[in-house]
Amino acid sequence: MNTHASPKAPLPVPTSEHLAERSRRARTEPMSVLPLGDGLYEVESASDHTYLVDLESGRCTCPDHVFRDVRCKHIRRVAIEITEGRTPPPGTLAIECHDCGDPVFVDEDEPEPIYCSNHEIRPGDTVVDRETGDRLTVVDVSDLRADAVTIREADCTVAEYGTNDRYEPDVPVVGAIYPHASVKVNGVVPRELTVYTFPRTRLENAD
Ligand SMILES: [Zn+2]
Ligand SMILES: [Zn+2]
Repeated sequence: MNTHASPKAPLPVPTSEHLAERSRRARTEPMSVLPLGDGLYEVESASDHTYLVDLESGRCTCPDHVFRDVRCKHIRRVAIEITEGRTPPPGTLAIECHDCGDPVFVDEDEPEPIYCSNHEIRPGDTVVDRETGDRLTVVDVSDLRADAVTIREADCTVAEYGTNDRYEPDVPVVGAIYPHASVKVNGVVPRELTVYTFPRTRLENAD
């Protein structure tokens, strides 16, 4: 699982409001924030010191907080990064989208693979089978894993079937149909209603 550190670049300063000196430094000083999970953040300061911020209890390991008991610039910076969507809030992590690598903020216990909104698939979406290039329509995204669902006709699991062994066995199973349908006067009539099952990672959102 890959986490993202926000870049050590200074942030833009809002000019419309007055900010106290500590708030100003919290916003403008180069710091990088790395979410560690459990509401903990590692903050690396411009002077290359690394401090640990526990956001929920409002604690930091820096001298300003430990000896002077102030809400230091590191705690403030973590809060700013979260408010502005660059770092995940407590209880969530930034995980890379399986297909494009963009960071996605998800619950810490969310099972992988994780997808961004562009690569997520829902019933009705068109997907491409990475093995054949065929386009299919998704009918169901299951919670069951590919190594836990049996294909009756083949007497093996979805994970074991054919070329599926190239894909992770612990990913959810997706049911999809081939769009072999013809349009009649009474609507769309599918020629075949067989639902084929695929490991989630074999299918790619086509939209
Ligand atoms: Zn601090
Ligand atoms: Zn993506």
